[in-house]
Amino acid sequence: MESIIQASYFIVAAIFIIGLKQMSSPVTARRGILWAGAAMVLATLVTFLAPEIIDSETTGTNIILISIAIAIGGGYAWRSGQRVAMTDMPQMIAMYNGMGGGAAAAIAAVELLKATREASHVSEITSSSSTISEVLGADVAILGILGAIIGTISFSGSIIAWAKLDGRLSRSKLLPAQHWVNALVALATVGCAIAIYFSSDLTTIVIFFSLALILGIFITIPVGGADMPVIISLFNALTGLAVGFEGYVLGNAAMIIAGIVVGSAGSLLTHLMAVAMNRSVSNVFFAGVGTNSSSSTETAQGEMKEIQAQDAGILMAFASQVIIIPGYGMAVAQAQHKIWELTQLLNDKSVSVKFAIHPVAGRMPGHMNVLLAEAGVPYDMIYDMEDVNADFKNTTVALVIGANDVVNPSAKTDTSSPLYGMPILDAIDSDNVIVVKRGRGAGFSGVENPLFFSDNTKMLFGDGQKAANDLIQAVKELS
Ligand code: NAP
Repeated sequence: MESIIQASYFIVAAIFIIGLKQMSSPVTARRGILWAGAAMVLATLVTFLAPEIIDSETTGTNIILISIAIAIGGGYAWRSGQRVAMTDMPQMIAMYNGMGGGAAAAIAAVELLKATREASHVSEITSSSSTISEVLGADVAILGILGAIIGTISFSGSIIAWAKLDGRLSRSKLLPAQHWVNALVALATVGCAIAIYFSSDLTTIVIFFSLALILGIFITIPVGGADMPVIISLFNALTGLAVGFEGYVLGNAAMIIAGIVVGSAGSLLTHLMAVAMNRSVSNVFFAGVGTNSSSSTETAQGEMKEIQAQDAGILMAFASQVIIIPGYGMAVAQAQHKIWELTQLLNDKSVSVKFAIHPVAGRMPGHMNVLLAEAGVPYDMIYDMEDVNADFKNTTVALVIGANDVVNPSAKTDTSSPLYGMPILDAIDSDNVIVVKRGRGAGFSGVENPLFFSDNTKMLFGDGQKAANDLIQAVKELS
């Protein structure tokens, strides 16, 4: 039986890696998700064969408990996965990420409690005190405790990230002396971790988990501005690491490999996101330390100038080049299909059209690429920020649809802005900028956008899908 289990874990790990590889291209990503899902089903089913499940006095109860857990978790995930709106995906990802960290922490808690019980049993027999490290062995104890810290921080931090993305918690709140409080809680958590290793005290374990939970909350609450993508992807990496460590504790090869794969992919993504935001990961993780997280002091000058769809359509139809900048609002409006229809009409009029994608546009990595791919926009029309930015100077119209923070020039000019330092799409360099949005509201960071008040900018107010439709009609009327 043991060899069947280990062979299954090997197959599971191999399929995870194949699935991840396929996720690296939008063409094969859907297949990659199915492969990874199938591997997860196999890994779960193999659990029923584990000797500690089937060769135990409580076999019946074990199987019933596992089945109930699978029914609740699987049923909830199936239902929420079917119902979730594309715009709510990031919250769902943050929540599932937290669940992964929480599951790793729960494994650690169970193993530590079991070791505590065993240590006190040994103490009773030998009449000399025994420690968790003696019971588990140094390597298992260290990795188990490390996984517990990381998993718990990732759990509570991800829940806060979920609440922020879901609008249940205000974006960025800094408690008085936040970084000192964070440092103290971090030190106390590490202190408890060391104490657990050298003892078998139940109270210390409870305090340790409570402190790690608080640390995750305290780290995430101040993260604001536009730094959320970095912290979410960091928690993703940490969850992977915690799962890998706990896989070692359980001797589960599939968990070790899957955890390492998620940990390394997540670390790479975190690095890329941090580079895209021109931030260091530690700066985001210890938000508020040495940074000014207050709102921008520079207020935008001037008036917003409105344009009607008909005039905007004429401007675009007679342009030599149009660059379309999609943002979160395009996802909310589900305007991608209409935007692609508009693009084709402009192409028919010999207008060159490009799509410019900022790495953190939308609410999850690759959000805009997924939407545009879904609408059928060819990949060779889609440009990354660094490849397209110089081209804005040669562009007749930059059409900003539902984007805000990613085109905010205060990221370059206002040192007091929470966005300061983040590279942006230089839409402002175009001859004309047309901004589609519903009202005068700020973007995710809450920072006012001077682009909207610039001389070359006109606002086309309205829902993204309706505005795109009106633009289509305007261009069609010219034929
Ligand atoms: P944004 O700054 O959030 O701005 C979106 C704009 O869309 C808003 O100003 C809103 O203005 C408009 N909008 C909303 N619904 C609309 C609709 N139905 N029709 C038309 N417009 C609509 O978006 P962004 O420029 O894409 O920037 C992304 C932000 O999210 C960054 O700050 C980024 O750091 C953050 N973030 C990104 C990720 C990620 O992984 N990509 C994850 C978490 C956070 P109105 O309300 O006036 O319409």
